[in-house]
Amino acid sequence: MGAIDGSAYLGRLRERQPEIWINGQRITGNICEHQAFKGILTSKAALYDLQLAPEFRELMTYVSPLSGRRVGTSYLEPRSKEDLEKRRKAAQEWAKASGGLMGRSPDYMNTGIMALGTAWDIFDGNESWGSAIKSLYERGRENDLSFSHTFVTPQVNRSLGYFENNGEEPLAAKVIKTTSDGLIIKGARLLATQGGLTDELVVLPVMGNFIEDSSVYAFSIPSSTKNLKFICRESFSYSSSHYNHPLGSRFEEMDTIVVFDSVEVPWERVFLHKDMEVLFNMYNDSSFYSFLLHQTVARQAVKTEFILGIAQLLVDTIQIDSYQHVKEKVSEIIVGYEIMKSLLLASEMEAAPDSRGRMIPSSNSLYAAISTYPKLHARLMEILQLLGASGLITIPAEEDFDSEVGPDLNHYLKGTDCDAKTKIGLFRLAWDISTSAFGGRQTVYERFFFGDPVRISTGIYNGYERQEAKDLVFRLLND
Ligand SMILES: Cc1cc2nc3c(=O)[nH]c(=O)nc-3n(C[C@H](O)[C@H](O)[C@H](O)COP(=O)(O)OP(=O)(O)OC[C@H]3O[C@@H](n4cnc5c(N)ncnc54)[C@H](O)[C@@H]3O)c2cc1C
Repeated sequence: MGAIDGSAYLGRLRERQPEIWINGQRITGNICEHQAFKGILTSKAALYDLQLAPEFRELMTYVSPLSGRRVGTSYLEPRSKEDLEKRRKAAQEWAKASGGLMGRSPDYMNTGIMALGTAWDIFDGNESWGSAIKSLYERGRENDLSFSHTFVTPQVNRSLGYFENNGEEPLAAKVIKTTSDGLIIKGARLLATQGGLTDELVVLPVMGNFIEDSSVYAFSIPSSTKNLKFICRESFSYSSSHYNHPLGSRFEEMDTIVVFDSVEVPWERVFLHKDMEVLFNMYNDSSFYSFLLHQTVARQAVKTEFILGIAQLLVDTIQIDSYQHVKEKVSEIIVGYEIMKSLLLASEMEAAPDSRGRMIPSSNSLYAAISTYPKLHARLMEILQLLGASGLITIPAEEDFDSEVGPDLNHYLKGTDCDAKTKIGLFRLAWDISTSAFGGRQTVYERFFFGDPVRISTGIYNGYERQEAKDLVFRLLND
């Protein structure tokens, strides 16, 4: 099969019919026509079309070492810095299609599957785990599968001493039974963005101070697996009008609570169960986080450039660039963009091969980027609000321009050099990224995109090699 186009992606989704609930109802009809999903599904389908377009095919695909077919670049195992560059450019080409707003574009988790699947030896020696993760990687790559994923347990009690004890009705999804056929999982996981909108769901364990055996498991199952439910939050795709909701109508990814109602996971899909050593190695030794961060920071750099473009257009439209503080604010976005871009490129410059011959982007600069972005992104949204001011709120809808009050709007809401409809279209975009329900969710998303920023900082503190820094000081003191 190899790399697919948009209609193949949508066709598979329609056929699968996963159990998705929204507004108290299960989706039974064609999900591609549902208001909550049609925008994101059309946008995702366009990504798949793009990878096969003649001008992008070389960048977005490569020849599979197994089948000889062209497969998606997000599955490419990097063996050189050129491979990393190709991966980055492909990720950014997809990111440009959404201004970097689609966090879970297919390349995100495909990258995670590549990281684990090309380090299958970590899982080997334990039952059939090595072959399970290897075949997941190969199946994903050869069929261009897409994945949503879930790590997090329900947010019921996060105190350090909390130990869940709900007997037969667990809150956090657990293995409640093993049979000759596989694991039986019961309970919930939060949060799967695009849950049910992908071919498969990858379920991965979190690392923690204390984790029970029954919570140590990893597998991937079809989104349509029996007894697997995806419960959606309220949709922020309020209409299909790209004018009224330029972002929500296209890129509302949806987030879901995942309920495992005694889901049976066949052994051949399990690549971890109860083994703490494999759990530790599967993230560290596979460079899972470094590879995922490389894709994430590539997207965030594109998003920052997109935000810079919006800010500059706001400034131009109402001619506020003679004010020094306006220049300072736009400069802050430029600096943020340059920092993200530089950290991304530094990760490639300092990349080094691992024992398997895979080229691993340097995690130091990538962690610096992911630690910077939650604060930077929130500040960028603040800057858009400060520059746009009431213009972010004075945003009549498309229908108003065609009504009796249209002439009033055309007269009073125009920009310095553009008509009112053009100006309001731009301000609606600035509102949708910074202030609407869709925009609010984006800010929370970027805050927690790679996990809790507080714990990411602790990880940086714990993992960063500082001997050379201390030696510099000793050299001066001892001189
Ligand atoms: C829009 C959005 C989309 C997401 N999509 C996905 C997805 O697709 N897949 C997925 O797996 N996850 C996803 N997540 C979940 C994301 O990984 C988590 O939000 C993140 O890991 C933080 O976990 P939490 O939300 O449970 O916060 P909590 O862990 O409950 O934290 C709440 C607060 O308590 C503090 N806190 C809690 N425990 C500790 C501790 N031990 N030490 C210090 N402080 C602590 C935190 O700092 C924070 O301030 C998504 C989240 C959002 C917001």
